[in-house]
Amino acid sequence: MGIAHVLEADLTWTGAAFESGLRLVIGDDGNILEVGRGGPPVSHRLTRHALLPGFVNAHSHAFQIGLRGSGERYDGGSGDFWSWREAMYEMVEALDDEAFYELSLRAFREMRSAGITSVGEFHYFHHGRDSADFRFDSLVLAAAAQAGLRIVLLEGYYRTGGIGRPLAGGQRRFATPDLDSYWRQLDRLAAETDPRTQSLGVVAHSIRAADPDEIAALYAEAERRGLPFHIHVEEQRQEIEACLEAYSRPPMELLNSRLEVSPRLTAVHCTHTDVRDMERFLERGGRVCLCPLTEAALADGIPDVPGILAADGAVCLGTDCNARISMTEEARWLEYVQRLTRRRRGVVRGETGDVAATLLRFATENGADALGLRTGRIAAGYPADLLAIDLDHPVLGGPGPTRLAAAILFGGAEAAITATAIGGHWLEHA
Ligand SMILES: [Zn+2]
Repeated sequence: MGIAHVLEADLTWTGAAFESGLRLVIGDDGNILEVGRGGPPVSHRLTRHALLPGFVNAHSHAFQIGLRGSGERYDGGSGDFWSWREAMYEMVEALDDEAFYELSLRAFREMRSAGITSVGEFHYFHHGRDSADFRFDSLVLAAAAQAGLRIVLLEGYYRTGGIGRPLAGGQRRFATPDLDSYWRQLDRLAAETDPRTQSLGVVAHSIRAADPDEIAALYAEAERRGLPFHIHVEEQRQEIEACLEAYSRPPMELLNSRLEVSPRLTAVHCTHTDVRDMERFLERGGRVCLCPLTEAALADGIPDVPGILAADGAVCLGTDCNARISMTEEARWLEYVQRLTRRRRGVVRGETGDVAATLLRFATENGADALGLRTGRIAAGYPADLLAIDLDHPVLGGPGPTRLAAAILFGGAEAAITATAIGGHWLEHA
């Protein structure tokens, strides 16, 4: 295998700190062959720049960007998650193929300019207006390819419109009628994906959209295939109450009792999860994806982040409803909301006491692990998925290497991102 280029920036993120003098030898297959000092001569010098791994957005519903700016008037009194969901369903009913594609493309392009190089698209909006042929799945893959984004299409299983209820209205466009048709579609998608930048994962939308037997069957088959499995869990108390009524236990307890929890399982939100259910889930290697901006926008509540971290929980982050697309802001909000509620600073600190390094890990490595992707790290054997930061950009204020990670995350440094690379292919951002 040949060397495509040898890259050196002033500072390179190692996973723990920024270091100078590190060279990335990148092969012509787009993978990093070597990271070190010395080695072959530098062919590309990124002067006055820092290199980070591209951000990994572990949870998105791209089309929901179409709701941006709407639903923020409350003429009839205050709203909640469920009134927001009605507005979302209204949009869903109106979207045709072209509009769906354009929204997906817009969201994915905005992600790329925000330094996101991989997205886990939790996709349950399968059908066109008058068809049930899953053609929106292909549109999502095409939009990600056009935007130049690495994607894990987390294919959604969605059979019921609430526990024991049929799908109604716009929900019918989410329909997966049964397990057989779901797996047939997954096999079709496997033949369609571009293996260089596209892969698949399995999703049960939530306990509202699939019953425990279906969730167990989906998960068992996902495990057999070695695919990541994601599910919305306990974002809203109403979901817990409905689940208690139907199955006499909350969703997370059901998952713990019905599934052989493994590190391929990611529970999204866990806003109201009982501490013991969470511990049991994490002990067995389960992961948690938090989406602080969406959880705030939808008035969900505040998850027990210190509890998750104390139990060594692997947290990743997602932009979810895409009202705002910024991984630095997701990371910042994760820490700030905890500061406000606990009146303590440094809640999300790692063993070294470093909040920024911990948050960066959530936004890169942990997201990649939750998506079953080999990315999120600048290391030999990983694809050259990178983002370059202009060290002289005024938003950073010229900090030294020890303050840079915190300046990027707490200063919201998207403006300082000059370029991103996926598999060694660079895209410059204006
Ligand atoms: Zn979601």
